[in-house]
This record gives sequence, structure tokens and C-alpha cells, in this order.
Amino acid sequence: MQYRRCGRSGLKLSALSLGLWHNFGGVDVEENFRAILHTAFDNGITHFDLANNYGPPPGSAETNFGKILREDFAGYRDELIISSKAGYTMWDGPYGDWGSKKYLVSSLDQSLKRMGLDYVDIFYHHRPDPETPLEETMAALDLIVRQGKALYVGISNYPADQTAEAVKILRSLGTPCLIHQPKYSMFVRWVEDGLMDVLGNEGVGCIPFSPLAQGMLTDKYLHGIPQDSRAARANFLKPDMITDERLKQINQLNDLAQQRGQTLAQMALAWLLKDDRVTSVLIGASRPAQLLDSMKCLDNIAFSADELAQIENILQQ
Ligand code: NDP
Repeated sequence: MQYRRCGRSGLKLSALSLGLWHNFGGVDVEENFRAILHTAFDNGITHFDLANNYGPPPGSAETNFGKILREDFAGYRDELIISSKAGYTMWDGPYGDWGSKKYLVSSLDQSLKRMGLDYVDIFYHHRPDPETPLEETMAALDLIVRQGKALYVGISNYPADQTAEAVKILRSLGTPCLIHQPKYSMFVRWVEDGLMDVLGNEGVGCIPFSPLAQGMLTDKYLHGIPQDSRAARANFLKPDMITDERLKQINQLNDLAQQRGQTLAQMALAWLLKDDRVTSVLIGASRPAQLLDSMKCLDNIAFSADELAQIENILQQ
């Protein structure tokens, strides 16, 4: 594993981090997610990413993670970076959603209870709130750090201009913004239009989520939709998102990856990590073997100008 500095902070993250959005909920198989967590940690992944609403049902990923922390990882807390978030709908009424101080503080208290932790390492505001003043949401993050409930704070899904504003407010409060978590992959490029420059200039780390486009940037959909895939199971990756045009791109990217001696998953992750403003790529996995495959991306994160041009050509088709 490689460890990369998060922006201009003192914290290093493993180049790959594991997210618990899917496959760790109350509906999932404990034996499998326990094995995924062990495979990750045994191979040097130190950063585990959660949120209040991960499951299903919401909250169950944190409960399950807390159980395994207690049973298997007791004694390793100081080798782990654990994050959680609040910002999406979590409970009924006006205090279980968006970005008020009331919601963020209450939600983190609930997350800590579910995981059996005294503090998380990173706490995020999960999405911008069009109604709550940014000053209030950032003050809530600052408060949470001062209360000792989080060591660092971050933001997720914030566009470039609001990110610049949030970074400024947090800095003025004395709690720097550690990291931004945007959706970013070969198929989703919005961050290149301003956000990455803000993060680079301000010294804020970047941890792209869904770097494999939920599995589309792997070889798994080349010959149809396997029964045990996310596209067959979940609401978030719909089969109709895997269009003929997408499949054509996936096929061509897969050929290029093979020429580089990589799987498509490895090339897609390497392509993000070639930018040193990217601290870590936040992957998901439905089984340990996927993690072992993805982690080998680190064997080659360099791209020739010709390879980069070929990738752009494929993506523009
Ligand atoms: P990915 O794009 O990495 O997709 C992961 C899925 O791709 C796996 O569950 C698996 O799907 C498939 N896969 C992974 N590795 C391989 C491989 N080597 N070969 C073949 N298939 C593979 O990321 P996610 O969409 O899961 O997101 C990762 C994390 O990002 C989340 O867990 C969460 O922590 C965070 N996130 C944050 C959001 C935010 O708003 N801040 C929103 C969404 C995610 P399959 O089940 O088909 O096997």
C-alpha cells in the first residue's frame, strides 16, 4: 500500500480507501463483509468510509461495522481512519436532514453510538443545503471538532464555488477543511471544471467516490449483466445505464487496460491516482477478490501521453 498526504494536512491516507455504502447493511451477509474488512486492513487499507444512512436499513452499516470493530479490530483503533457523514435524509421531522447544526450534531452522536466509538477521524457534511446558511453548517463542523467528536472535517458533493466559500469559513474558524469527497471517474468528470483547482490551490485533499462508476469501469458487464452484480440488484446502478454506447467504451477501455498489463478496474483507479491532488480513491467491493484486484492498480499509475489521448478519444465517442 502507498500512503498519500491529504492536501496540506498532517494526515496520510491509504491510496485506496474502502466505502461501506453497499454490501455492509442489515440485508447483507456478515461472513462476507467481515472478510472484506479483513482483506482491506491486512493489505494496508487504513481508511473506512461510512455515513449515517448506509445500509439498508439506514444506520445498519455503522452498526455492523461497530460490531466487527469490537470483535475483530479491538486494539487497532489507532491504525484506522474512520469517517462518517450527515446530510441526506435520516429520520422524520425537520431535524433529520440537510445541514442544520441540530441535525449534524445529533446525527454524529447517533453514528458514534452505533459504531461504539468516542470519535470519528473525519466527519463530513454529505451534500450542500440550499436553505441553511453555510456559516451555520461550517460552525457545526467546527463545534464537532472542538467537542472531540471528530478529528478532521470534510465536505462532499459541494460544487467549486461553495467549496471555496466553505474552505474560507472553516479556516476562519480555526478548523481547516481536510478533504472533499466528490463523485469522480472516467465517466463522471465534473470536478475537472473548477473543483480540482480549488482543492489544489487551497491544499484540501480529494477522495473520489464511485471511482469505478459503480462497477461499470470493470470487466464485469462486458458479456451482459451478471445476476450477482449491483446493476441486477440495486436501485443505484440501473441496467439501462449500461447502454450500447457505454458498452462500446467499456470494451475499448478494457482492451487498452490489457495492453497496459492491467484489468480495467486497475486502469480506472490508476487514471485517478495519476493526479497528485487525489489523495485516495474510495472504492466499494462486494467480495474480497475485487479488493485484491483493485489494489494492484498501484503497480502502474503512470500513463504515457499517447495512452491518455487514447482514453480521451474513447470517452468522447
Ligand atoms: P465503486 O465505483 O468502486 O463501485 C464498487 C462496485 O463495483 C462494487 O460493489 C462491485 O460491484 C464492483 N467492483 C469493485 N471492484 C471490482 C473489481 N475489481 N472487479 C469487478 N467489479 C468490481 O464505488 P461505490 O459506488 O461502491 O462507492 C464507493 C464508496 O464511495 C461508497 O461505499 C461510499 O463510501 C462512497 N460514496 C459516497 C457518496 C457521497 O455522496 N459522498 C455517494 C456514493 C458513494 P458488484 O456488487 O456489482 O460486484
